[in-house]
Amino acid sequence: MPLPAKFHPYLMLNFVGKQNDVLTLAHELGHGCHMRLSIKQGELNDDTPMILAEVASVFAEMITFQSLLQRLDDPKARLCLIASKVNDMINTALRQIAFHCFETRVHQERRDGELSSARLEEIWLEEMRTSLGPHVIVDDDSRAIWPIVSHFFHSPFYVYAYSFADCLVNSLYQVYREGKVRNFADKYLDMLSQTGVKRYDELLKPFGLDAKSPEFWNKGLSLISSYIDELEKLDKEIHRK
Ligand SMILES: [Zn+2]
Repeated sequence: MPLPAKFHPYLMLNFVGKQNDVLTLAHELGHGCHMRLSIKQGELNDDTPMILAEVASVFAEMITFQSLLQRLDDPKARLCLIASKVNDMINTALRQIAFHCFETRVHQERRDGELSSARLEEIWLEEMRTSLGPHVIVDDDSRAIWPIVSHFFHSPFYVYAYSFADCLVNSLYQVYREGKVRNFADKYLDMLSQTGVKRYDELLKPFGLDAKSPEFWNKGLSLISSYIDELEKLDKEIHRK
């Protein structure tokens, strides 16, 4: 919950000590830190556009995940943690893209008149099935769940911000891991403090990243595939024992 500059932001969340709760806490703290850093620009310029709204939160989740992973030696525990991360990445990148496709189609068809609930459900099922491919069965019973995505009502087209942030953070994290950018942390904090006043392409320049090049997106996606490779390796290792 962002508040005016003289107060700090508040986080309100459930916490029962599970791994996922830790990652959610990291995510929301990312938003909180981002809000505090943006305040430097003054009340009129501290609002972050949709496109960068999830960057701090997803990056915070990523470094927390890495720190949890480094502490684990047991292959089974590593497998569980990486599997849940891959699951999250698929949800954040692919599922949100499917939401976006659903939303685009609905708005486009709405131009020609009101859509029946049956038609909305049809589009929903088609998009969910396409996003998951032929090997995952999307049950017919899930046809009516599209209204649980509250963003469709309160912030149309916001869903793409998650996909964008996930791929952007993956690329940014790769840069951080390569260690070629000097003073990465200072540059990163600087970037977060300016999201309300600079365009995303300008903000990514200090990291040598260009979101308009396919290489940028491939860098991000390669991180997801490297985790899937790691999962397969761990799985073989566990079954050999
Ligand atoms: Zn968020």
